[in-house]
Amino acid sequence: MDLAAADSPAATFVPLKDEAAGLDGVIALHSAALGPGAGGCRFWDYPTAEAAQVDAARLAQGMSYKNAMAGLPFGGGKAVLRKPSGGFDRAALFRAFGRAVEDLGGRYITAEDVGTTPFDMGCVAGQTRYVAGLPRAEGETGGDPSPWTARGVFISMKLAAEYQLGKPLSACSVAIQGVGNVGAALARLLALEGARLIVADVHALNAARTAEETLAEIVEPGAIVAAEADIFSPCALGGVLDRSTIPQLKARIVCGAANNQLATAQDGRALADRGVLYAPDYVVNAGGIINVAGEYLGWDAVSTANRVERIAMRLMSVLNHADEARLPTNLAADALAQQILADARAQEPAL
Ligand code: NAD
Repeated sequence: MDLAAADSPAATFVPLKDEAAGLDGVIALHSAALGPGAGGCRFWDYPTAEAAQVDAARLAQGMSYKNAMAGLPFGGGKAVLRKPSGGFDRAALFRAFGRAVEDLGGRYITAEDVGTTPFDMGCVAGQTRYVAGLPRAEGETGGDPSPWTARGVFISMKLAAEYQLGKPLSACSVAIQGVGNVGAALARLLALEGARLIVADVHALNAARTAEETLAEIVEPGAIVAAEADIFSPCALGGVLDRSTIPQLKARIVCGAANNQLATAQDGRALADRGVLYAPDYVVNAGGIINVAGEYLGWDAVSTANRVERIAMRLMSVLNHADEARLPTNLAADALAQQILADARAQEPAL
């Protein structure tokens, strides 16, 4: 398989192509300072190969930082697959993807992400052992990472509410954008805590299902950013916070599961200038990858759960660093992650 140099000097792209199986996409590998690239496989309607590649590169860098901040022995990697426009054999497509992962000999470890399921990872696992997120029995580490991602976002939100608003979640309103796997699980946790919920989803059925379970109010997808809420929780796709959406925010906290929530790094400054506490996405949404790591590395359920609980402590260290260094929280998190990667590189034996 050809390894093409990426635009970014720190990234490598592995093209994925198997016309017979309908496989068309790319694996992006970012820093390997802490270990092999680990990150999920996204299956989505990308209009062009370039769009898929740009997304893969950004997501892979996010995984380097996320794995570093979560204390995991993994580097950054992400697979992005373009959904075929016509009919296709899903199992055959994911088997072909599994063969491509196997060809990399362990440089990349895959799992679920947006658009992929434990069933898909089961198809991948027939071709390679470099995969996690497989169906698991109750109580075992592994399986669908979404509930763990939701748990990490939930405990982060709890901390952020006390830090920024001085009140518990039971006294907060939360606007959730996207109630798919993570957003719906998060809504359930918040409802149990007594938070008031507002939800929106482009799939009306998803919004209706969550509203029925949690008594959430439903608003149109276009209205969720500007909803009257204490906390805005992006749990759909990335790039939602930009020059046009940030001025609409009524919430004083942004804390959600979506990767790459800020359209640009400067948007972190724009949020800080508006007095909005931004809980950096890759710090708070690490529960899923911690669970994936636990499955892959054979940790038991208790130690995996304990590591997920430490996400709140890591968020606190980011908030403290932002405060001390007078940085927006996204840059404070990047600085801490880059320091971890630099320390790991410094420990590598010289060639
Ligand atoms: P999902 O596909 O199950 O859910 C996403 C939901 O968002 C869907 O219901 C979809 O209809 C909805 N949506 C899409 N665009 C929308 C829009 N413009 N407005 C409102 N709703 C919209 O995905 P997921 O697994 O729940 O992941 C959600 C986000 O969290 C993604 O960005 C993903 O990368 C990130 N994330 C997920 C995990 C995980 O464990 N699943 C881990 C880390 C990060």
